Amino acid sequence: MESVLIVGGGTIGLSIGWRLAQQGVDVQLFDRQEAGRGTSWLAAGMLAPDAELQFEELELYAFNRESLSRWPDFVTELEEASGQSVDYRKEGTLIVADDRDSAEALKRLYDFQREHNLAVKWMTGEEAREIEPFLAPRLHAAVYASFDHQVDNRLLLEALSEALRQAGGVIHEHAPVERIEPDEEAPAAVLGDGQRYSADAVVLAAGAWSRKVEGITRTALPPVRPVKGQMLQLQMETPFELRHVVRGPDAYLAPKSSGRLLIGATSEEMGYDTRVTAGGLYDVLEGAWEVVPGIYDLPVTETWAGLRPGSRDHAPILGWSDAPGVLYATGHYRHGILLTPITADEIARLLLTGETSDWIEPFSPTRFSPEEIHPTR
Ligand SMILES: Cc1cc2nc3c(=O)[nH]c(=O)nc-3n(C[C@H](O)[C@H](O)[C@H](O)COP(=O)(O)OP(=O)(O)OC[C@H]3O[C@@H](n4cnc5c(N)ncnc54)[C@H](O)[C@@H]3O)c2cc1C
Repeated sequence: MESVLIVGGGTIGLSIGWRLAQQGVDVQLFDRQEAGRGTSWLAAGMLAPDAELQFEELELYAFNRESLSRWPDFVTELEEASGQSVDYRKEGTLIVADDRDSAEALKRLYDFQREHNLAVKWMTGEEAREIEPFLAPRLHAAVYASFDHQVDNRLLLEALSEALRQAGGVIHEHAPVERIEPDEEAPAAVLGDGQRYSADAVVLAAGAWSRKVEGITRTALPPVRPVKGQMLQLQMETPFELRHVVRGPDAYLAPKSSGRLLIGATSEEMGYDTRVTAGGLYDVLEGAWEVVPGIYDLPVTETWAGLRPGSRDHAPILGWSDAPGVLYATGHYRHGILLTPITADEIARLLLTGETSDWIEPFSPTRFSPEEIHPTR
């Protein structure tokens, strides 16, 4: 594989591009806006497989956990290649319960986590406040997930763009790909202004917009839909300082070293609507205030709504598609930042060696057989 076109410059497209360019591949990446300003820019940067383990998602959990284990080396290499910090923080995550009902739900989650050998620790509210003094005094209980880390996703995107360029990749910004022309030998991407590029392979990494590209039959497109998430950003001011990611029953808080404190997030099926609503902000703010009341006086510095790329089974879609020469790396839903290292490594390996690793095999686009595919919104 000597040349690859990448459609989409989020954390997924940029990181795959970086890995390929490091191996001498001619990488041309296209983003319809400034690269790194899609959903990845609007995320919270949590690397949280343990805290986010859902009762039904064990296969995905193993994949998430493996990606988490690759983060430390990934950070070292990326920071060296780009000369920029990504604010990788290892204080861990506190999942907290603020009343008896949520404490019971938390206990069920904790038992499930322990059953699957997760390194989580049960704490009383008092014990949790000893390591995170800004937690609400009335908290009933907490689970400490010490291995759930975080990065500053905005710094990550800047570092990935820089590392990709340093490795020789070309990033075309404000360059929307209107159509992909599948072909076994020389697939192509055609831009809005008519320019046509062809290469040995095309990687579709357009996040929540992956079904919007023309040229691939509707049934062969990845079944990805946008899932809206509203968030807001506060600025931490002395003496307020949160160190851990805190997850309450209705909201989470993710503090960055720059002082940004991210609070999120709603989960709404609203198509491509990205309006920020009073109700959305109210819900996450109230949920955050209940577990960390000290946020009350902090200034609000930004609000937004991002679109998670949700696949039909909420797992990513990784591998060769039915469209010749076109590979998919999309559908990362709630975990695209966490899954960046493993996606980049394994997709680059597939393109370079032709081998599908055991890690991505379960997430092949072929699991959605054409007969089963129904149009998503
Ligand atoms: C509120 C919120 C909080 C989140 N928090 C976390 C978190 O804490 N941890 C975590 O792991 N994940 C989190 N996520 C999920 C994560 O943000 C996504 O899974 C991830 O960003 C997906 O990355 P991506 O590169 O596929 O998509 P994107 O970052 O959206 O990148 C796709 C890019 O493709 C471009 N594009 C689209 N169409 C075209 C076209 N036709 N031509 C050219 N370019 C095109 C877009 O402009 C965009 O830049 C969160 C998501 C939301 C909404």
